[in-house]
Amino acid sequence: MLRYLTVPVTAFAQNCSIVWCDATLEAAIVDPGGDLDRLLAEVQRLGVTLKAIWLTHAHIDHAGATAELAQRLSLPIVGPHEGDRFWIDALPQQGAMFGFPPSQAFTPTRWLHDGDTVQIGHCTLAVRHCPGHTPGHVVFHSAEAQRAFVGDVLFVGSIGRTDFPGGNHAELLASIRERLWPMGDETVFIPGHGPEGSFGQERRFNPYVGERG
Ligand SMILES: [Zn+2]
Ligand SMILES: [Zn+2]
Repeated sequence: MLRYLTVPVTAFAQNCSIVWCDATLEAAIVDPGGDLDRLLAEVQRLGVTLKAIWLTHAHIDHAGATAELAQRLSLPIVGPHEGDRFWIDALPQQGAMFGFPPSQAFTPTRWLHDGDTVQIGHCTLAVRHCPGHTPGHVVFHSAEAQRAFVGDVLFVGSIGRTDFPGGNHAELLASIRERLWPMGDETVFIPGHGPEGSFGQERRFNPYVGERG
């Protein structure tokens, strides 16, 4: 079964998640935006072994420490979708703009596409391409655990910004309605910022995309 621990990192309190298979204790790290020493201390405390970096999208608060972590531990970088290549290439400038520590661009070991799967230990997660916040944004869904790691697509009571280059509001709404809601009302989502929620709650009450919004 999939387990996870969410650790807020960077000045943006970005929810980096350490996810692992409780049978093998093999782990992946979703969106290591920064604060690597803190993240690696949690990995050690959990007693899990990092095998991969998974990225939802390439904004600095999500991807800023990816290159350094990949180099330090020789980890493959999985994701995001190739639509975010320009954001990856701009990581050094993003870092300078937002006052982050120096960040390097990188080339993912594997670009992700809608319908792909990623695996850690015995756990398989489905990949859905959810453009709108960024063109190459993906989410990771564990049907077994009823959890979805959605980055900046959806938040409790809100949705991702679409005023950055490559953002598209209509696309974001379609991503949420056509690719997140079918995961089921009971599914708990871990957003890039703020508390966890359920798709059922957001589908009804989210003011931007809910049925009563
Ligand atoms: Zn973002
Ligand atoms: Zn973010």
